[in-house]
Amino acid sequence: MVKIRINYARCVEDSSKICVEICPVSIFRIKKLAKSEKPEIVNIENCIMCRSCQVNCPFQAIEILT
Ligand code: SF4
Repeated sequence: MVKIRINYARCVEDSSKICVEICPVSIFRIKKLAKSEKPEIVNIENCIMCRSCQVNCPFQAIEILT
């Protein structure tokens, strides 16, 4: 079972949609907070381990644990 963690200490708001946009199976969605928006993981069981989210995040905020 794949485990993906978003390191919110690294996740920068202005770029936070990259993982949402790039995932081919829509694992991520945007969570609206009081003053910002952040990605959250909603469909982890669909992950095909392509690592696009991890490779393309400019802040290394995606951690994939297998
Ligand atoms: S590894 Fe690929 S399929 Fe899995 S969450 Fe990241 S972009 Fe989506």
